[in-house]
Amino acid sequence: MKNKILITTPIYYVNDKPHWGHAYTTVAADVLTRFFRIQGNEVFFLTGTDEHGAKVAESAEKLGKNPKVLCDDNSEAYKIAWEKLGIEYDYFIRTTDKIHEEKVVEFLKELKDKNAVYEKEYEGLYCVGCEKFLTEKDLVDGKCPDHKTEPKKIAEKNYFFKLTNYLGKIEKLISKDQLLIQPEIAKKEVLGLFKQRLEDFSISRQKEKVRWGIDLPFGENQTVYVWVDALLNYCTGNGTKEFDTYWEKGKVIHVLGKDILKFHAIFWPAMLLAAGKNIPQREFIHGFFTFNGQKMSKTIGNVIDPSEIVDKFGVDATRYLLLSQFPFGQDGDVKKEKFVEKYNSDLANGLGNLVARVLTLANKYGIKDGKSEKEIEKRIKGVKEVYEKDMQDFRLFEALEEIWKLIGFCDKYIEENKPWQITDKKKLETVLSNLLYCISEIADLIAPFLPETSEKIKNQLKTGKSEILFPRLQ
Ligand SMILES: [Zn+2]
Repeated sequence: MKNKILITTPIYYVNDKPHWGHAYTTVAADVLTRFFRIQGNEVFFLTGTDEHGAKVAESAEKLGKNPKVLCDDNSEAYKIAWEKLGIEYDYFIRTTDKIHEEKVVEFLKELKDKNAVYEKEYEGLYCVGCEKFLTEKDLVDGKCPDHKTEPKKIAEKNYFFKLTNYLGKIEKLISKDQLLIQPEIAKKEVLGLFKQRLEDFSISRQKEKVRWGIDLPFGENQTVYVWVDALLNYCTGNGTKEFDTYWEKGKVIHVLGKDILKFHAIFWPAMLLAAGKNIPQREFIHGFFTFNGQKMSKTIGNVIDPSEIVDKFGVDATRYLLLSQFPFGQDGDVKKEKFVEKYNSDLANGLGNLVARVLTLANKYGIKDGKSEKEIEKRIKGVKEVYEKDMQDFRLFEALEEIWKLIGFCDKYIEENKPWQITDKKKLETVLSNLLYCISEIADLIAPFLPETSEKIKNQLKTGKSEILFPRLQ
């Protein structure tokens, strides 16, 4: 059945530089997009950058730049990184896009008309790093645990969103999987949040404090809270009527990291319900990396620049190294020193060597594509069933494992049948046809993950000319 599917990544903070974590989310979303397209769905893949807020304005000021110029420069770095990683998004949204700013204003007016906002004097502890209010309970030694800074005490009149009006409904939608939160552990975490006291949250800031933002369409001298502005990117997209149909008639899937779970699983659907809009169908929450057991940090110097890995290993190998470390949805440790080993064993000696071996044998004995045996076809059918189920459930790591099991099977099949020793011509033809068939299936299965390699294998099968896919590295 053909579905319209919108797949999104979070929009990345424009002050950051693209790192391994951003690449992980974005490559995963790209793989899913390609898979769903191959399955015959109409997919729109949206990513972009989050560009408003006090921090952006501060950085720009330090550099003596206009904030918009800083955003232009930094958002470009993401586009360049994504191009290098073979990511084919349909639209790269920037929250400073004029169309986005207009849509945010429209949405907020809608909330006001529906009586979902009110004005209130508020006093709280605000972390500029997080761009959010923290409670005493969130603090460790009086500091934000993520930024190690003391939050500022802020008292101001803001507009608030009546979150509490929608909590019951959202809790029900999540428990019934009508808003599917995956994996299960993330769903449990969200459902646990409803047991704490969740309060209405402010959707605006005083303009004198946060000047670099979208003007609130009601209330003087207020700008829209950056999180509200950022979440709305998913509804703006490329700003066309065609894009709106993904929200109206399609399925919306958000892929995100667990640090922003609350915003996506509770605040966001509440805002949508309040405005009378559809909510996303599914949110997939992936885990975090440590690098050699440590959190990514500039001070330790363990930040991995994905472009550097592409330069060394190539685009497809980098995509493979990103997704083959540990299951999508779990936390895991990454060891950069192990990349060469993994590359050599799985790609150079694994996939690459198998394709070269089979094509060389097929050439030598002049076999193109003959008939493969029922038994082999049955095995492939079984592999495909597991693979497709894994992909539907976003078990990208397991789907890769399934492909590599098939590669292992082919290697073993060659060792057992020793085609170079077969004297019976018919038998030889069958063995090599089986292998050629498996390789063409492998080329299809890897297509979402390793699109370039998939094309290369298909080409080599057509021409019969074998070329090295992954040169061995030292
Ligand atoms: Zn913070």
